Amino acid sequence: MPLNILIIGVGIGGPIMALILQRSNPDHYITVIERSPSLRASGAQIDIRAQGIPLLRKLGLLDAVKARAVSEGGVELVDKNDKQRAVFGVNNSGEGPQSFTSEYEIMRGDLVEVLYQASLEQNAKARGKGGVKYEFGRMVAEMAQDETGVDVTFADEEKARYDLVIGADGQSSRTRKQVFGKEISDAAFKSLGVSCAFYSIPRHPTDKSDLSKYYHAPEGRTIITRPSKPTITGVYLMTIEETDELKASLKQPVEKQKEVWAKLFAGAGWQTDRLLDGMMRCDDFYATMLGQVKLEHISKGRVALLGDAGYVPSAITGMGTTSAIVGAYVLAGELARHKEDPHAALKAYDEVMRPFVAEAQKLMPGVPGLMFPKTQFGISIMHLVAGVLSWMKPDRFVSRFLPENKGGWTPPEYPELKLD
Ligand SMILES: Cc1cc2nc3c(=O)[nH]c(=O)nc-3n(C[C@H](O)[C@H](O)[C@H](O)COP(=O)(O)OP(=O)(O)OC[C@H]3O[C@@H](n4cnc5c(N)ncnc54)[C@H](O)[C@@H]3O)c2cc1C
Repeated sequence: MPLNILIIGVGIGGPIMALILQRSNPDHYITVIERSPSLRASGAQIDIRAQGIPLLRKLGLLDAVKARAVSEGGVELVDKNDKQRAVFGVNNSGEGPQSFTSEYEIMRGDLVEVLYQASLEQNAKARGKGGVKYEFGRMVAEMAQDETGVDVTFADEEKARYDLVIGADGQSSRTRKQVFGKEISDAAFKSLGVSCAFYSIPRHPTDKSDLSKYYHAPEGRTIITRPSKPTITGVYLMTIEETDELKASLKQPVEKQKEVWAKLFAGAGWQTDRLLDGMMRCDDFYATMLGQVKLEHISKGRVALLGDAGYVPSAITGMGTTSAIVGAYVLAGELARHKEDPHAALKAYDEVMRPFVAEAQKLMPGVPGLMFPKTQFGISIMHLVAGVLSWMKPDRFVSRFLPENKGGWTPPEYPELKLD
């Protein structure tokens, strides 16, 4: 049965969901809406790991991702004089577990474009009764569901009825609130007590290295620079000291947010002044609180949550993008398997995803606390331990704690999707 489906959010999960759904049944009518007036092809580096890599290969998208991958040679810890204290490499052999740096690191904007373009190209070639249409600058004001469908009222007061609604609208998902209520939705977000700001600056002559640099400053502040593109350095500011001013700023205009972050990192040493100066001039600043969404169920009736909206594992795990890819594959797979019964499909999606989500959200021991020493003494201890580990068997040590080795959840096979 072809379905009339609404997907909310054109980030990572939205376009990949549209792509798999259409490939499995070109008769589906799929509408994908995005709150922003145009594609939000921005953001810093994201990585594809574990189950996400073979799934992208199955979808025929891995080469396109690899072609736009960021060339990062690993991670180094530096002190205030820029002296290297520890270094961990990258496994780019195409086999075995990834290191801290994934072989498939890519700028978020590039991945959004790859997935969106792949979906448009497939739509242009598809020969079904249905199709995929993208609508920007569109939001849902209200939705109400019954046994047979979901009535949606858009912010412009237009109304439509869908067989199924998929909320792929990110960590602060409005769909989650609309379906489960504000109280359950808010309680589901478990803060990790870490705030993070991402932005990019023009590459400086001193940013020659292809390594990510991690610099720790007292008071739980960390600055990371990454060789995002040949002309661009990606900068991450992270802090475990969540002040009220910082929390409140996340809802304020970007210029105000930048002021608060500049105040928090002032005097942190190393290259902070130059990096803060770059922040004031950048046009892609994005700040968020790191946390995990833990819901008892990720679907209700005919509405399902996908990716960050339903189960964000936090950037610290490196599994956010992979979770959205896995979620889209499983949801499309269950819809294809239970094609006469969307209720059963969404229930199965909920059940199949549970062990994967638990695995993806598992944090390394001591994370995030140990990542943010509060004193110079704590930083020195961290450098010492990391230095010894990196000198011993870094790859074996690192890979023990990475998502690839957490438990080995394997995605089900869905021949009904006709992907091979
Ligand atoms: C601008 C931006 C920058 C990011 N930068 C980073 C980064 O640097 N590093 C990192 O690890 N992760 C980043 N993320 C998060 C990362 O993309 C996700 O963790 C992950 O890839 C899972 O993707 P997703 O599709 O579930 O959510 P997202 O990628 O967050 O996509 C959600 C999409 O839904 C849209 N949306 C939100 N609310 C509504 C609504 N009510 N109606 C319609 N559309 C809506 C958003 O504009 C966005 O396009 C960023 C996300 C965004 C939106």
